[in-house]
Amino acid sequence: MLLDLRTIYFIVAVSCFVLGILQLAAYATGRFDRWPLCWGLSNLLVGVGSFLVALRGIVPYSVSVDGGNIVTIAGYMLMFFAVRIFSGRGLDQRYFWLAILLVSVPVVLIVSDPTAVSARLLYVSVICCLCDLAIAREAVSIVRRERLYSAALLVGLYICTAMIFAARSILAATGEIGGPDPFGASAAHSWMAVSAVAFIMLRSMAMVLMAAERSRNQLTELAHHDPLTGALNRGGLAQRLPALGSQPVSLLIIDIDHFKQLNDRHGHAAGDEILRLFVNVSRNIMQPHDLLARQGGDEFLAVLKKASQEEAVAIAERIRLTFAAAVMQRPDLAVFPTLSIGVATRAQSDGDFGQLVHKADEALYRSKREGRNRVEAFWESQQAA
Ligand code: GH3
Ligand code: MG
Repeated sequence: MLLDLRTIYFIVAVSCFVLGILQLAAYATGRFDRWPLCWGLSNLLVGVGSFLVALRGIVPYSVSVDGGNIVTIAGYMLMFFAVRIFSGRGLDQRYFWLAILLVSVPVVLIVSDPTAVSARLLYVSVICCLCDLAIAREAVSIVRRERLYSAALLVGLYICTAMIFAARSILAATGEIGGPDPFGASAAHSWMAVSAVAFIMLRSMAMVLMAAERSRNQLTELAHHDPLTGALNRGGLAQRLPALGSQPVSLLIIDIDHFKQLNDRHGHAAGDEILRLFVNVSRNIMQPHDLLARQGGDEFLAVLKKASQEEAVAIAERIRLTFAAAVMQRPDLAVFPTLSIGVATRAQSDGDFGQLVHKADEALYRSKREGRNRVEAFWESQQAA
């Protein structure tokens, strides 16, 4: 079925204007960084470009076709910039203007020959296809880095439009579209333009979903971590415990010795620094898949996955000694805090996590009773005794 291409271009233009204004309004709320500004402006530019192209034959050629194509390409490039900014890898603005200049020169050259409609369509389609592929690539890196699953939707959408532009390039190259009357009879061309309206809407929706997913992830991160040390808090640990299943784990309960004395002597800021130092030391020794949580005050839990009792005791000793050595490097301290550590191990399907905490706690108290600055393990035989 043949559709009126000029009308479709006007519909594309109006859709882009509405979306662009909404995105600029979202930016004006001040709740987002700069990406809705770029994305909104890019929609406005694509809207202006489509509007000018739709005016072909009504306003001078250089304004409708020349100007329309250049503005559309600028809008497309700005879309790429918006996604770069979203992914936290903004680009120097000078590259944007340079790219527009370089890409526009051939448009002007081709347009100077009004009969070269196919060549111009081919050129603009290839540029838009490349822009779409670049954006899809950027979205892939967002999926990988942030595990933002809605970014996969953006990848899919841009791959689809890149394929449509590739098909449009082939049709233009073979002279199937872009004859002397570009708004003339070509069902393929008009249906491609209709699909553009759907993709423009879906892309904006995907960006909003990405922003929502990212902010949900950030809130969850904040809610599950201790802001001072970056270790998990109780809620964060509780949320991760079910994933342990019944696999064997070892638990260390670690308490800093004489921490109150350190606070009293050197102030809370120095105490805070020691808490952060402890977390850094422990993270460097533990495996990336292990969990470190701040239980409260100067007490921490370290969950070592698949570690036997002997391995856990060895890791606890390394943490104790490395922390002590790091503290000794601080010539400004008059009080040198040390670590008391209780260790307990759960074999496969052997008791719940609460019992494990109870056992490690018992071992920690023994460590405190026996003079601090030591590692004590909970052995089943001791319980029996
Ligand atoms: P012990 O050797 O028996 O472990 O004694 P301690 O002094 O280390 O332990 P105690 O439990 O008596 O004191 C812990 C102190 O930790 C009390 C509290 O003021 C301090 N504290 C709790 N949270 C923070 C914090 O976020 N920053 C700082 N600097 N101090 C904290
Ligand atoms: Mg303490």
